[in-house]
Order: sequence, then structure tokens, then C-alpha cells
Amino acid sequence: MQYVLALDQGTTSSRAIVFDAAGQPVALAQKEFRQVFPQPGWVEHDAREIWATQHAVALEAMRQVPAEAISAIGITNQRETTVLWDRQTGQPVANAIVWQDRRTAARCDDLRDAGKAALIQKKTGLVIDAYFSGTKLEWLLDNVVGARGRAQRGELAFGTIDSWLIWNLTGGRVHATDASNASRTLLFNLHTQDWDDELLALLRIPRAVLPKVVPSSGVVAECDAPLLGRALPIAGIAGDQQAATFGQACFSPGMAKNTYGTGCFMLMNTGATPVASRNRLLTTLGWQGPAGAKQAVYCLEGSVFMAGATVQWLRDGLQVIRSAPEVESLAAQVDDTGDVYLVPAFAGLGTPDWDGYARGTLVGMTRGTTRAHIARAALEAIALQSADVFGAMTRDSRIALKELRVDGGASRNNLLMQMQADFLGAPVVRPQVTETTALGAAYLAGLATQVWAGADEIAAQWRIERRFEPRLPEPERVAKLARWREAVERAKGWAQR
Ligand code: ADP
Repeated sequence: MQYVLALDQGTTSSRAIVFDAAGQPVALAQKEFRQVFPQPGWVEHDAREIWATQHAVALEAMRQVPAEAISAIGITNQRETTVLWDRQTGQPVANAIVWQDRRTAARCDDLRDAGKAALIQKKTGLVIDAYFSGTKLEWLLDNVVGARGRAQRGELAFGTIDSWLIWNLTGGRVHATDASNASRTLLFNLHTQDWDDELLALLRIPRAVLPKVVPSSGVVAECDAPLLGRALPIAGIAGDQQAATFGQACFSPGMAKNTYGTGCFMLMNTGATPVASRNRLLTTLGWQGPAGAKQAVYCLEGSVFMAGATVQWLRDGLQVIRSAPEVESLAAQVDDTGDVYLVPAFAGLGTPDWDGYARGTLVGMTRGTTRAHIARAALEAIALQSADVFGAMTRDSRIALKELRVDGGASRNNLLMQMQADFLGAPVVRPQVTETTALGAAYLAGLATQVWAGADEIAAQWRIERRFEPRLPEPERVAKLARWREAVERAKGWAQR
């Protein structure tokens, strides 16, 4: 039996999962680490703690299987989070700035006011937003004493979390990132698949800090033998959402997945050419390889900030449920929301509205409204936000999506998945293995080390657990989405004074 070790470095925990050649998880270890909130809107991680927890869970997972049967390591990671470290000592010069961190929002406003949005969208596929790494790295170079000079002299290294893990796994021998992670930095040109001098100049980033860009599937290096007991090849790397798309075997143009976690991230494979969005979606690199060379698959991506987190709010904020799964039975107590809409713009709105000033709104309540109506409206809101993203994707790609593959914690909610199928007017399919992020990293690594022969073999391993067919008549679906948009309009701009 051959195994692949997937390192899944997430926002709140580091996980390691060993998969067998059938694509089944056989060992899992997980450790949480500290979230650092130095100021409102700032979110940091201690990169040393990220490495320490990731190393520990890798060892723990490896102990559960015959370690000599592990063929390769795949890495997937929280995206955009920015680390800057000293090449000599391997120590970070500051805490990592996490993707959620908003400290560079004003700098982004300036870039937008300076008319840079079109250039940036054309080259990177991204919108100007503090979410991405570029302005975070610029901030570190400007605010850590001496950092800019040292970066120019080649003494410092920048990386997203994948680079940081590779650096540590190789004892500082290798400074690399994969193309999917690079495509989230604002510094990477999607068309040339390389760092872009004009963007580097705009954000004042010296080339000397940047990692080498490598394919998502391919042997990058071997880890240092003493770390894991063996010198294993690091053979697969992808950002978490791209890895999940790969783990869902969305290998042909028009295939899409949606992950229902804290937020929702929908990615659709658009094939070998990047599709420029007209509907405020992101264009992103999906993965490079396994065929090697510079062959890349591109995706359209939509991000919903509050999905499962809306259910957390029902639990912790409103306290109308004791656990997240309870929302399903509570919402099922009523047949409809009674025209109540919950717009969960607690942290602004992402795709397609991108309104940082929108705030959470509950509209349409009457004397008859109960907590069951509100719970149902919360679930509908998750599905309706995703339906908006789905609509934007359909318009941008001019592809009518045949089905949506789903994963993530909230995808276990059957009522939510039925609502989703109804609001999309398309089937929703849930696979047997929902650890798709780690699985995608394992697949990318195993393809490069002959654990799997090719994409067809992987696609054949993808097994459906349940399929949800749309049942809502089309006129009712259209009316529901239109009514939802009215509610969204009421939430917009609230915090702008
Ligand atoms: P993340 O990786 O973002 O932490 P997970 O994929 O672990 O997220 O999913 C956890 C999220 O899903 C939480 O926000 C939780 O509220 C939500 N969730 C979990 N189970 C359910 C459920 N049965 N119905 C609705 N939401 C759920």
C-alpha cells in the first residue's frame, strides 16, 4: 500500500492527514494555534507556532501508519497570509499578517483612487483589496525597522504559508511557492505566470525577497530526513481553495465546487485561459502541472464572508441554538421564512457586492416571526449568497453549470443543500470524502510521484454520497432571488457615514 501525507495548514489549526492510494483518509492529527489581534481589524499569527504545530501533527499522523509506505508530501494552506523572515537565521522578522487583516485598507483605497484597478485586474485577475498579500508585504517592509534595506540586500525572504513550510521542511535550502499561491499576492502576472516588474514597482517590492514559482504538482525538494524520520519528496502544493477544487476532481472546464465553512468559496474551472470577470469575481490560477511545463488551469472564484459563521452567530450571539447542527431542525419547524430575510453582512459583503460598509440586516419581521423563521432565513442567506456567486459565474463564463460539488462543515446540513439546489436551479452533489482540501494536496503530490497515474484515475475515485435535485419551479426561483436582492440593497452602505 502507498500513502501520501497531506499537510493542511489552515487559519485556525494545522492538520495532517494521511491518504491511501484509494483516496481514503487513514490517519489524522490536528492542533490549534494562537490568533493574535493587536488592534481592531488586525489579525496576526506567529509563524514559528505555525511551523511547530504543523511539524507536530505531521509526526503524529505518520505514527499511525507504516511510515515507510509514505511516498510523498502535499502541502495546502491558508492563502494570502504573509510571512517575512531572515534568510540567515530562518526567524520571522515580525508576526505573519493574516488574510483577514484589514490594516492596508487605506493603501488599497489610494491604489484605487490612483486608477490602478484596471491594470491590476488585467494582470493579476484580482480586485484591489487588503485581503491579498502584496500590500501586507509592502507594510512589513515599511514598518519593520531596517526591513526594506535588508530586503534590498537580499537578506530577507517573503513567502505565503506554503513557502514558509517548504523553507522549514528543507532547513532553508529551498525558497519556493506554487503558482496557485503566487496568484493571490497581487504581484504575479497570470498571463506570463511570473512575478511582474510593473506590479513590483507599484508596490515597491524588491525582487530579491521573492520565492521561486514552481508547479503545483511536481517534486520541489526533499524534506530534511531528521525532521520526519525520512527524506520525503515535497511534490504537491496549492492554496486551500484550489486544492479543494482539485480534491473535488473538477478537472474539466465548467466544473465547480463550493466549500461551506466559515465563509463560502466557490471556484469554477475555466480551462487553459484566464477568463476576465465582468461581474466582480476573481480570476485565479487553479493549478500548474501535473503535465508539467507551464500548463495551467484557471478558475473563476467567488467569496462569501459569512456562511457557517452566520450559524455560529445564531449559536453564540443570539443563542437560539446550542450547536451548529441544531439549526437544521429549528429551521425545519417552519415551511418558509414568512418573507423574512437575514442579510449576514456582519463583515461587509464579498462577491458580487464588495461592500465593506454593508452591515447585517434582518428585514420583513412581523408579530408572527419566531426564532425558527430567523434560523431558516439564516440558512437561506447562505444559499442565496452562493446563488448570487453562481449566477455571476454563469454570466462570466457563459457556461451553464451542470451541477455544484459541495464540501465543508455546513455542507452536512441537508436542508441547506436542498435550498441550495432550489436557488441554483441546478443539482448539488456531496461526495463521500469531504476532506477535499487535504485530499487535493495529496492528489497533486501523488500524481508527481506515480501514486496515481493521471487525472482519470483520480476522477474515478470521486464518489457521490448524496445528490440534491432542484424542486422549486423556475418563476418562484427567480422571484426568490429578486426579493433577496431587495434585502441586500437595504444592508448596503450602512456603516458609511
Ligand atoms: P472552517 O474550515 O472555515 O473552520 P468548517 O468546514 O470546519 O469551517 O465548517 C465549520 C462551519 O460550519 C462553522 O461556521 C459552523 O457554524 C458551520 N456548521 C457546522 N455544522 C453545520 C450544520 N449542520 N449546519 C449549518 N452550519 C454548520
